[in-house]
Amino acid sequence: PSIRAPGAKKSTTLTVAVKCRPLRHKERGRDIVQVIESKEVLILDPDLSKDYLDRIRNRTKEKKYCFDHAFGPDSTNLEVYTKSISSIIPEVVQGLNVTVFAYGSTGSGKTYTMVGTKDDPGLMVLSLHTVFDLIKMDKRADEFEVTCSYLEVYNEIIYDLLEKSSGHLELREDPEEGITVAGLRCIKVHSAGKILELLNMGNSRRKTESTEVNATSSRSHAVLEISVKRKGRNKYPNQVLHGKLALVDLAGSERATETNNAGQKLRDGANINRSLLALANCINALGKQQKKGLAYVPYRNSKLTRILKDGLSGNSQTVMIATISPADIQYHHTVNTLKYADRAK
Ligand code: ADP
Ligand code: MG
Repeated sequence: PSIRAPGAKKSTTLTVAVKCRPLRHKERGRDIVQVIESKEVLILDPDLSKDYLDRIRNRTKEKKYCFDHAFGPDSTNLEVYTKSISSIIPEVVQGLNVTVFAYGSTGSGKTYTMVGTKDDPGLMVLSLHTVFDLIKMDKRADEFEVTCSYLEVYNEIIYDLLEKSSGHLELREDPEEGITVAGLRCIKVHSAGKILELLNMGNSRRKTESTEVNATSSRSHAVLEISVKRKGRNKYPNQVLHGKLALVDLAGSERATETNNAGQKLRDGANINRSLLALANCINALGKQQKKGLAYVPYRNSKLTRILKDGLSGNSQTVMIATISPADIQYHHTVNTLKYADRAK
């Protein structure tokens, strides 16, 4: 039998952070974004930004947004991790659910933030190290079982990224376990290193592994889920705490934001990403819930939101990292992402 951590809060906490990536050489454009005091993001209308660098603080034409955290182009993934996530990762080892996802248009830095590079490991990598470090500290007293799965939602079809040639997987509702993906490989792991190996293998199978921005490369969501079961040896024998950490590299938000400029409820459409819209609507609802209480969170509308349900409800912590480009040519996407992130918090 599973139990909830005693005395825990009942509603989901949503943290919104923005990360602006560096301007790339080949963009040759102007940098129109400025981050101030780790909280505020200023974006200048590219048509008005002639010599803005000197005057940006005095101008009235820029748009200004304030978030829980904001990171400029010089911030490393470690900095993003330390300030916005590290304090909640311990909850996973205490039986609570944590969901972290990167939201932004294609090319804005979602994969860089979640997966990272060798020199600048991403949030998936850094979180996993923390989970195993925490387990190491408590191993004497408690027994742990850690499993890992890695899936992709592509055109509303679920694929197993840990299987060589995965077929289409279906969701199933289990009275004990809740919503599960039938047949998904859940591999028992004993170290962060092992998961990273699996992660690399999975990434090479993603349908998005293309540096070109094209119609299909931006449509896949990758969900890495780490499940931590903890059984007390002496203190609470037979009680199991079950925490889950979901780390999500989302599809490009460009299609979702196009329909969402006026702030009305997101609509489904033939060429927009159903899972992304559904997640965006859930996040909006969570934001409202946080401010005003109540608010129904519409999980049922897509594969992705059903998969993530546990991490978006109850005693959960959700962190959204909105990723943006500083380039003037990305103005439209950047404003959409900032508006969206602003509404969510
Ligand atoms: P997305 O996954 O949102 O489509 P990527 O993560 O692939 O975007 O990033 C697009 C490009 O920008 C890649 O070449 C990536 O290496 C680079 N990039 C993104 N964020 C950073 C960063 N913080 N520092 C350096 N390069 C970055
Ligand atoms: Mg990507």
